[in-house]
Amino acid sequence: MMVNPTGFARCQRCRQLCRPRKGNPNSRPFRKAAEGLCVNCAVTEFLKTTEPISGLLSGIGPEVLLRFDLQRQVGNIMSAGNCDASLSEISWQTVVDQWDLPMPKLRRGITRKGV
Ligand SMILES: [Zn+2]
Repeated sequence: MMVNPTGFARCQRCRQLCRPRKGNPNSRPFRKAAEGLCVNCAVTEFLKTTEPISGLLSGIGPEVLLRFDLQRQVGNIMSAGNCDASLSEISWQTVVDQWDLPMPKLRRGITRKGV
């Protein structure tokens, strides 16, 4: 990914400008990185690839993520994993709106970045 002189880079999925960060290697389920996905796409990828969440969401649709109690559950997963992103950084409306965007093929080990 090209990092432009202002220090911003584009998300490889939704093309949103974000600011790359050095991530905490122990951060789960995703972490900030020099390139890759914005936080909305990172949480989307996590939700789409983690059972039983992914099966649940494909059954009832991603709109359920607009419910605060579900968002809090995701926040619990993030804080349990010492995630270096916080729940307040996530735009759930964007996650739902962009749910069907394809995931880019990312190089192993460089998968996430902060906003
Ligand atoms: Zn994105």
